[in-house]
Amino acid sequence: MASADVHPASEPARCVFLFRRHLDRIRTRAGPFTDPDSFSGEAVAGAMETMKILVIGAGGLGCELLKNLALSGFKDIHVIDMDTIDISNLNRQFLFRQSDVGSFKAEVAAKFVEKRVKGVKITPHNCRIQDFDEDFYMQFQLVVCGLDSIEARRWINATLVNMVNEDVEDSYKPLIDGGTEGFKGQARVILPTVTSCIECQLDMHAPRAAVPLCTLASIPRQPEHCIEWAHVIAWDQEKPFPSLDKDDPEHITWLYQKALLRAHEFNIPGVTYSLTQGVVKNIIPAIAATNSVIAAACCNEVFKIASNCAPFLGYPDNNYMMYSGNDSIYTYTFKHEKKDDCPVCGNLARKLDVDPTWTLRELVESFAVRPEAQLKKPSIRAQFKTLYMQSPASLEEQTRPNLDKTLTELGLTDGEEIGVTDPAFATVSFKFKLKFKQSD
Ligand SMILES: [Zn+2]
Repeated sequence: MASADVHPASEPARCVFLFRRHLDRIRTRAGPFTDPDSFSGEAVAGAMETMKILVIGAGGLGCELLKNLALSGFKDIHVIDMDTIDISNLNRQFLFRQSDVGSFKAEVAAKFVEKRVKGVKITPHNCRIQDFDEDFYMQFQLVVCGLDSIEARRWINATLVNMVNEDVEDSYKPLIDGGTEGFKGQARVILPTVTSCIECQLDMHAPRAAVPLCTLASIPRQPEHCIEWAHVIAWDQEKPFPSLDKDDPEHITWLYQKALLRAHEFNIPGVTYSLTQGVVKNIIPAIAATNSVIAAACCNEVFKIASNCAPFLGYPDNNYMMYSGNDSIYTYTFKHEKKDDCPVCGNLARKLDVDPTWTLRELVESFAVRPEAQLKKPSIRAQFKTLYMQSPASLEEQTRPNLDKTLTELGLTDGEEIGVTDPAFATVSFKFKLKFKQSD
């Protein structure tokens, strides 16, 4: 049977027509939240059609977002994604087909939606968000993120906060951010400099606690501990292959069997091949249903902000919606407070508990694991001198000897402010106020 018999060519067009009719019932009619004096339904519909929306990410969330936004009446959408399509994406990134494997996600997604939803223009950008400057971001009225990387979110957040100019109303770009991890997800709205930003909320994304090596070596309690033991310790001792290739089934099988033996020894159930693969590759399962719930929530917020038909998330209060489908379905919406000591949108230095006997190296390394900092390549300056710079090479070499000195030896004092920068967030200088641990 030809597939054309099942999906007549006119079907998508008819769907879009029906969508539009329902859509106009909402956007062209006055409601309890519209201003009775100045409301004009035609003006709302017209404004939505000329509004420029930026979608960041064309993966699991991005495909959903593009489809939803196009069907919600937005006609000028841009999408940024640097990735190409992998065969493992096809189960949930529904705008892609097998023949698209290897092509750019943004390009293929844009073409697909343009074909199905007549009248929408989607401009793809196959590159990194960092490749654009503020002038580029200034052209949009709204930014929607469907990203899986915290670093990219922090970058766009810092950029949008930086762009705010109090005298220019158009410089405030609302950021709608969606994120999912397995059966859990969140949707939040950020009004740069007005409400709590992504950096204020960074502790909601604490890095996963690493299991101490001693637990792995002596007393494993969970199947994951046995797998990590095989991965970190047994592999190193026995070197079954010259180097570990996490995509090679033979290597994973070796780790799985080692982990299984250890699990038997300690009577721990639950070690499986797929868990081994998950732990070793640090895979977060992606669930299509979670993506569609979160993308729908984000698109709803975009629609409310654009049409003014109802109060949106983040104004005036609750700005963070979390969703969990782990154990039946649960959602909770709350207000995440803006932080005065947020390095991006606040103006106070953040307190930093340190031990004066630490070496500078220990301080540098601690920035990577502190939930409120998460900086992998920090350079540090004190008020009057540079303590450590990661680049350029000559400065790195010059400041390297400081790494082995203690904070006291470097002349740092309790209450002193330090500035920390990281190449991943070029525009931000993180200010910290040292708080020395009292020796007892
Ligand atoms: Zn902030």
